[in-house]
Amino acid sequence: MAETTPAKEPIKASEIDPKFKYEIAKMHGGEKLLRCFQCGTCTSDCPVARYSDTYRPRQIIRMAQLGLRNRVLNSDTLWLCAACFTCTDRCPQDVEVASVIRVLRNLAAEKGCVPQVFKDQAASILESGYAYKIPELRIKKRESQCLPPLPKGNPESVRKTLKNVKFFQNTEKKGEPSGQ
Ligand code: SF4
Ligand code: SF4
Repeated sequence: MAETTPAKEPIKASEIDPKFKYEIAKMHGGEKLLRCFQCGTCTSDCPVARYSDTYRPRQIIRMAQLGLRNRVLNSDTLWLCAACFTCTDRCPQDVEVASVIRVLRNLAAEKGCVPQVFKDQAASILESGYAYKIPELRIKKRESQCLPPLPKGNPESVRKTLKNVKFFQNTEKKGEPSGQ
């Protein structure tokens, strides 16, 4: 990942991209971004925020509204959202918070700002059909316990299904998940 600017660092005028919020608002799911009036309901009801010192959906929405493009897209916390949609259900302004976060993740992925763990998973999906590559040791252990072999993945079919997904296209081109 590119270096993350901590959310609490003072904002410099040069960081602000005034067009960013309009760019998001044009995308499916991002249309209501500008309605947010920062009540904090999304953060107070978010199950991830409850267990994290840094993950705050309200803050992500505010950074997007302010045009802090690089700060928000480079942020690792963007990837902590569990997409449970509680925030979207509870927002009094009808902001589709979870969808805005998805839009931001897609923009981050286009820039190659994806945590290594997801890059590794993408590479594994393309290679084996599974997000988690079963270690050889475990396969041998199953054999030693007379357990049946695990079902084989079908990476060819998976690649066919994912051929139009940009993140996977980048992954395949580079022989590794989308780089930075
Ligand atoms: S609940 Fe809605 S209005 Fe309140 S801070 Fe979150 S996004 Fe903004
Ligand atoms: S969708 Fe993401 S931001 Fe919203 S409540 Fe669930 S984990 Fe939190």
